[in-house]
Amino acid sequence: MSPRPLMFFGTTNLDLCFNVERLPTPGESLMGSLKRNAGGKGANQAVAAARLGLRPSFYTRLGDDDAGRSLLQALREAGVCLDAIAVCPGEISGSALVLVGDDGSNMIVIDAGANANVTPSLVEKAAEFIERDAIVVAEMGMPVGALNHLFAMKSVKGFELIFNPAPVRAGLSAAAWTSVDFVTPNQTEAFELTGVEVHDFDSAAHAAGKLLDLGPRAALITLGAQGAYYADASASFALRAFPVKVVDTTAAGDAFNGAFAASLAQRLPIRQAIKKALAVAALCVTRRGAQSAMPSSEAVDEFLK
Ligand code: ADP
Repeated sequence: MSPRPLMFFGTTNLDLCFNVERLPTPGESLMGSLKRNAGGKGANQAVAAARLGLRPSFYTRLGDDDAGRSLLQALREAGVCLDAIAVCPGEISGSALVLVGDDGSNMIVIDAGANANVTPSLVEKAAEFIERDAIVVAEMGMPVGALNHLFAMKSVKGFELIFNPAPVRAGLSAAAWTSVDFVTPNQTEAFELTGVEVHDFDSAAHAAGKLLDLGPRAALITLGAQGAYYADASASFALRAFPVKVVDTTAAGDAFNGAFAASLAQRLPIRQAIKKALAVAALCVTRRGAQSAMPSSEAVDEFLK
């Protein structure tokens, strides 16, 4: 059977990543080495799915600038369908300044740029690209008003909705919450949404119960090196992370979300979809970077042998 259509809504950023010996103090100048990486949560998730052999659509908003062109090229090379993407003259593409110290500590400043200009009516236009029986994935970097509008379209369009509440913010309407099929926070986001500190599978179960009270059909909490916890009205289970040698945890959550969505699109049952997402995220943390760290389906099959 052919895979279900898959569409991501989210942000794209040019990440300016400086490796520095240690983070600077106010007023201090330091030497560092710079790498420009394609990033943004939505873009990373779409690339993770494309590497697994799908051709997901992606809606994002970019400026008509050098950064926008190189970000588009990265998405094109990964095999993401660019038809829904808006490239807007006069706007500046989103960017992030990332400082990483030798001890792994970091400082990040984001200029949302064109990402901040996504309005409800633009989302409505982009939603024309959502096909029948599609899986839609949305993260929280887009303006919340646009997300509320997208989620409200679910009743008409009939898609299945994965909501990754990152970066977590308030403002999603009660009605929008009830449109969500899978909410996929990490530990910090689960705490922000429920007030429950998630440090193990027991506390994840408690937080998942509170997440379900918000209205989604299922909660899927990621717990870093521990794994993931799933709960819906009739089932709940925890799956352990694959033990790997960690090099860089950037975009682990994006790898997980992109792979979970891709696996559902490939019609895997939920438990198997989560297991594959854990494998993809484990491989992601063994490599440097964000989009460049997303593994191919061959690498994942080899890892799971
Ligand atoms: P985020 O990157 O959004 O903060 P997490 O830290 O929860 O999200 O990581 C997401 C997923 O990435 C985890 O559920 C796990 O599958 C994988 N992962 C993260 N860190 C590790 C690790 N040290 N070892 C193995 N897998 C990891």
